Amino acid sequence: MAEPFIRIESLVKAYQRDTQTLTVLTGLNLAVDEGEFIALMGPSGSGKTTLLNLIAGIDRPTSGRITVGGLEIHGMGEAALAKWRSRNVGFIFQLYNLVPVLTAFENVELPLLLTDLSRARRRKQVELALSIVGLADRMDHYPRQLSGGQEQRVAIARAFATDPKLLVADEPTGDLDSKSAEEILVLLERLNDEFGKTIVMVTHDPRAAARAHRLVHLDKGVLKEDIRASEGKKQVGMAAAIAAAAGTELPG
Ligand code: ADP
Ligand code: MG
Repeated sequence: MAEPFIRIESLVKAYQRDTQTLTVLTGLNLAVDEGEFIALMGPSGSGKTTLLNLIAGIDRPTSGRITVGGLEIHGMGEAALAKWRSRNVGFIFQLYNLVPVLTAFENVELPLLLTDLSRARRRKQVELALSIVGLADRMDHYPRQLSGGQEQRVAIARAFATDPKLLVADEPTGDLDSKSAEEILVLLERLNDEFGKTIVMVTHDPRAAARAHRLVHLDKGVLKEDIRASEGKKQVGMAAAIAAAAGTELPG
């Protein structure tokens, strides 16, 4: 068996507040293969964002091991981690996190400024990323001139402009109407299918989770359910599993 792309072992994350310790992750294990598209669900406050930030090297574990692409990121120093992150991880947030005073082009170019690409090469990559998300004609628009769905598409272009292997998305459709949400999901699916990106997506949205190939459910600091869509039965199996996990009927 090949080494998984992401391997998490006995992961513990505790936050210290005054004299109180809040242990959010209590010995979590997870292996994700390269090219997987995984949905992470669980109640509010269960530690989904915490786990995502640990996988992406934004935060450090209290104890345990996290290996991504063969690299032990739990043991890396701050500077090395920042450098690794800028090359290997793309981030997609619920509220887009675009810089309001920069155009769509400049927002997407931001992560490329940390690389040693030439100006001409950067322009090419920004244009390519914006055309993939269908916004080649909006390059000079500022975030306030875009709809929420368009802002999220710019944010996705920014996330993959450096061509990272890993994309992490924290409730990427959480603030969008259903039509815009659908566009975002189609885009994420395409980045997974066509460009081979490994995607870890936190979501509350059963429709979003149904796009993933695998569903994990975070509960009381550990992963409770781990459901893989099997070939052919993907839609039915996942839909049922997600409805059960969310305790709701699926729309449509
Ligand atoms: P979720 O994304 O599943 O809603 P989070 O990972 O954001 O959950 O938070 C899990 C728990 O950890 C919550 O109780 C939250 O208040 C707490 N928490 C998150 N970040 C911090 C922090 N930086 N300092 C202290 N507590 C935190
Ligand atoms: Mg969260």
